[in-house]
Amino acid sequence: AKSAGKGSYVVFESWLTDSFSERMRIENRLYAAMENNEFHLVYQPQVDPAGKRVTGLEALVRWNSPELGQVSPVRFIKVAEDTHFIIPLGAWILEEACRYLKSLHDKGFPELTMSVNISMPQLLQTDFYELVLETLASSGLSPKDLELELTETVLLKSYDHVLPKLAALRGIQVKIALDDFGTGYSSLSYLTNLPITTLKIDKSFIDLLSTDDPQGSLVEEIIRIGRRMNLTVVAEGVETRDQLDRLTEQGCDRIQGYYFSRPLPPEELEVFLAGWSSTPGA
Ligand code: C2E
Ligand code: CA
Ligand code: CA
Ligand code: CA
Repeated sequence: AKSAGKGSYVVFESWLTDSFSERMRIENRLYAAMENNEFHLVYQPQVDPAGKRVTGLEALVRWNSPELGQVSPVRFIKVAEDTHFIIPLGAWILEEACRYLKSLHDKGFPELTMSVNISMPQLLQTDFYELVLETLASSGLSPKDLELELTETVLLKSYDHVLPKLAALRGIQVKIALDDFGTGYSSLSYLTNLPITTLKIDKSFIDLLSTDDPQGSLVEEIIRIGRRMNLTVVAEGVETRDQLDRLTEQGCDRIQGYYFSRPLPPEELEVFLAGWSSTPGA
């Protein structure tokens, strides 16, 4: 009985971790998940370290599947990208995030911006620019309220296709963030060729700040160059007071991470925002 138990555990575990069958299980359920409203968005505050103001939010998608449980976006976004399901899903995310930001503006938080993650297949759609325009128009937001987050992979792999679209979006004042900066191949000098407004320093670099690792000065260098290029520099994954203090000292523009807040569902976010805006000097 014991070995049978052990055997079934092994079978169970390999069923869970086998990436092919996991992919299939995810892929098979994505479309129905959208129809059944199983996706929702959570929002993580971005905080200005000096004034301790909440300046913006990053929208992050969540999937609560009755069959699969909470599926990490790291897993299902990859599948959605490969199958191009990210196109309808991404359009819904953009629309939902814009609609929610408009409601926050109307509730007394008119300064907040919304950052939305955009995957490569979305950006490669011929009518991506039009989709953004229409979404802004239908939600009643101004283009400057919206920031699109792109990774280096997206920018580098299809540079020639992507560049004119980004330039058009910049032309109407939509903000463009380079996400996960430092994890890819792009050098700092390469940044000058991109129509970006924001640099998001990846968490892996922020983690180094909490140790005596000399690599910590790398973050300082990134911040300095980002600022010299007139980019807004955002630190991601800030978890400790010590990291916050160092980043503030080094002139980082915005802080995002568990130290201030995890990504929150709308009701909790609004409690958080109300608390911040009513604290004098905070
Ligand atoms: P990302 O865009 O780099 O998002 C940041 C991730 O770091 C989020 O994970 C966030 O919850 C997490 N995070 C934020 N602060 C901290 C912190 O202080 N400590 C730690 N340990 N983690 C922190 P999440 O929500 O699981 O998303 C993972 C990735 O999935 C995202 O990385 C992004 O690449 C992708 N993703 C999530 N939502 C969307 C979406 O709506 N569209 C697209 N295309 N991709 C998305
Ligand atoms: Ca992001
Ligand atoms: Ca990131
Ligand atoms: Ca990431």
